[in-house]
Amino acid sequence: MAVDRRAVAFLDLSRQHRALRPALDDALGRVVSRARFVLGAEVEAFEDEFARYVGSRFAIGVGSGTDAVQLALRACGTGPGDEVVTVSHTAVATVAAVELTGAHPVLVDIDPASCTLDPALIEQALTPRTRAVLPVHLYGVPVEMGPILGLARRRGLHVVEDCAQAHGATYGGRRVGSLGEVGCFSFYPTKNLGALGDGGMVTTNDADLAARVKALRQYGWGERRTSAIGGLNSRLDEIQAAALRVKLPHLEHWNARRRTLGTMYREVARQVGLDVPAAPAASEPVFHLGVVRCERRDELAAHLARAGIETRIHYPEPVHRQDAYRHLVRRGAPLPVTEHAAKTVLSLPLYPELTDEEARTVVAAVAAWPER
Ligand SMILES: *Cc1c(COP(=O)(O)O)cnc(C)c1O
Repeated sequence: MAVDRRAVAFLDLSRQHRALRPALDDALGRVVSRARFVLGAEVEAFEDEFARYVGSRFAIGVGSGTDAVQLALRACGTGPGDEVVTVSHTAVATVAAVELTGAHPVLVDIDPASCTLDPALIEQALTPRTRAVLPVHLYGVPVEMGPILGLARRRGLHVVEDCAQAHGATYGGRRVGSLGEVGCFSFYPTKNLGALGDGGMVTTNDADLAARVKALRQYGWGERRTSAIGGLNSRLDEIQAAALRVKLPHLEHWNARRRTLGTMYREVARQVGLDVPAAPAASEPVFHLGVVRCERRDELAAHLARAGIETRIHYPEPVHRQDAYRHLVRRGAPLPVTEHAAKTVLSLPLYPELTDEEARTVVAAVAAWPER
């Protein structure tokens, strides 16, 4: 069968790596020559560079985004018997990380306009056991953090930001990951800043918290390599840090390209009556995904597929509807906005290396959608 030359793949990571190949080869070669593979000069340098980028005092490299959330929560003292307020409309990793601490995830509904944690619903979810609030900057769109930070201050709660989809996004002129007490990043290869495998980062301005994450990522070790607390093994390795150091200087122009594409998609989506997740005023999203919303979502996906455009759904099943997490559902179906989002969201191809021609193909196909 002849390949349709207009076909637009959802994502092609080989384009970015083809362009960076010589620099990546150099960086990896440097690590192999030095033969120091865990917690060496590359991780230390990347932690400094990433902390400066986010605008936080400390950054601690860990094994994955899931571990970043788990260790950040544990460093805030979260454990068995505690509750953490978060959303069900997210990557399952967010909720898995809460359970890994032994705490109970309390899932609240999302705001229908932004598709992120609804600040108005947090207060009624609080109990004497609530330890932390875990907002997720989903799709690269910052959560409306002002009210959440205010509530947390009044009620003595920790705020842990899940920034796995939002490297570089800003709210009120500050980068996500520097707004709450702790920020958690993933460097899974498809994220806005992706490693050549797994990786993650915890950011914070709090020196004690940073020290606790550093201990937790390595068996709970202190200075003398004895364990004062129980920890795990979750370290960013030198190979990944070296690759990420090659990529970090590109993140701003990659995000600018994502913003150009995201803005184009939003305009055409609105013209044909499709909804898009709203960003708060005074925020700058980084469009990890190009999400539109449609009551006849499956028909829209089929319409785009006929034009050669590959789409995906993030996420088709809310976390509380997945077998491993049904026990989190309380009082029937308490999350109507979340359930509706799962039935209506559709992700268009959006990544920095998408060509202008491919973007025009997507825009033309969306413009031809017969909504209403
Ligand atoms: C990717 C992701 C994570 C988990 O990151 P891993 O590095 O895959 O463990 C957590 N939260 C969100 C919102 C994500 O998108």
